[in-house]
Amino acid sequence: MNRYRIQPGTVVDLAAWDPADRSAFDGDKDAARGVTKELNNRLEELQELLYAEAKHKVLIVLQAMDTGGKDGTIRHVFDGTNPQGVKVASFKKPTEWELAHDYLWRVHRHTPGAGEITIFNRSHYEDVLVVRVHNLVPPDVWSKRYDHINAFERILFDEGTTILKFFLHISKEEQRERLQARLDEPHKQWKFAKGDLSERKRWDDYVGAFEAALSKTSTEWAPWYVIPADRKWYRNLVISKILVDTLASLDMQYPEPEEDLESIVIE
Ligand code: AMP
Ligand code: MG
Repeated sequence: MNRYRIQPGTVVDLAAWDPADRSAFDGDKDAARGVTKELNNRLEELQELLYAEAKHKVLIVLQAMDTGGKDGTIRHVFDGTNPQGVKVASFKKPTEWELAHDYLWRVHRHTPGAGEITIFNRSHYEDVLVVRVHNLVPPDVWSKRYDHINAFERILFDEGTTILKFFLHISKEEQRERLQARLDEPHKQWKFAKGDLSERKRWDDYVGAFEAALSKTSTEWAPWYVIPADRKWYRNLVISKILVDTLASLDMQYPEPEEDLESIVIE
């Protein structure tokens, strides 16, 4: 899965990353779903252990173009995990109160505690993506944020947080199909926002903003992965695999039981 990881210092050109790539798996969609199911069972076990040990903190950042599959990833990859230890924080347009503070203020309080996995559905990266594309603050303000973000994530890492950042990479054509499906299917219409069409017109600006973010903020302590996301089954497989491998590498242990449990008789 290292093939999808951005090495620190790389200048990312998204045109060189195929959103329909499936080179890490040799089978078809059904076979992939079977493997993903096994990974999902393994993730459940690892999450239980993470929660029991209550030592590590895990932060997962999801970013994508609109319709990129952030919601679907949360639904499928974390299916069956224990809601007690898995949190989702979704970052919307900031409120007036949030805007009255620095941009990391609303983010920091949602970072995971010991034993928790927190998924950021959008994140502080919006402050160098939508904010940059729409000039919501001047360039001399947003351009400093890449360094802030690296330092912020370094604090989290130094204090025991494992950070994984996934850019769900879809093609413009795939976005067209997904937006069309949101128009056509009644149970998907709630997800359609007319604003998504004006954002789509800025596709190239978003590509530029994502390339800058991926280039400047993939670090040893908080790596970015570019996930081929045109095929949902492949996206779920790759993210599940990276998660399971990462959690397994933490070498977690269940806490020591209290002494002399064998001699206890419950009356
Ligand atoms: P959704 O995820 O579809 O519910 O949409 C959330 C919206 O909030 C998106 O249009 C984001 O671009 C927007 N958003 C999130 N964070 C920020 C931010 N820091 N500044 C401006 N807009 C934001
Ligand atoms: Mg939306």
